[in-house]
Amino acid sequence: MSIERTLSIVKPDGVGRNLIGEVYRRFEQVGLKVVAARMMRLSQAEAEGFYAVHRERPFFKDLVRFMISGPVMVQVLEGENAIAKNREVMGATDPKKADKGTIRADLATSIDENIVHGSDAKDTAAREIAYFFRDIELCPRTR
Ligand code: GDP
Repeated sequence: MSIERTLSIVKPDGVGRNLIGEVYRRFEQVGLKVVAARMMRLSQAEAEGFYAVHRERPFFKDLVRFMISGPVMVQVLEGENAIAKNREVMGATDPKKADKGTIRADLATSIDENIVHGSDAKDTAAREIAYFFRDIELCPRTR
């Protein structure tokens, strides 16, 4: 077990449907702590850069269009095994395949509009956190 940090985004569907609090409640319930947060409207270039690994995928254009369609809530979560724990709370990418009780199974409407993003590994977590936050903006949770 180790204390990790991971990058999480409440996507435009989650913000638009007023589910920020519901998503945060689920993070807090499993011990994930918010150590930085910002609401922002991504530009096309910012969304394309963030999802650059998916550039060649057929869904890339739709994904970018969706991610810039409204404000997003971006946060860094901290906790024991935060990367895997966050992925567990999120559920599978396709809400139809996600386990009951996960954010995506309970709240998402489709694979395109699936409420949340979460880093999938240590290296991507480090890259994605640095994409949005400077070190000085992260607040270690000592209590
Ligand atoms: P995640 O880590 O579970 O968010 O999934 P990925 O990193 O693989 O994909 C990023 C996002 O692209 C997902 O959250 C989906 O919104 C979208 N996506 C991934 N795979 C597909 C797909 O096969 N079809 C469509 N339409 N969208 C997809």
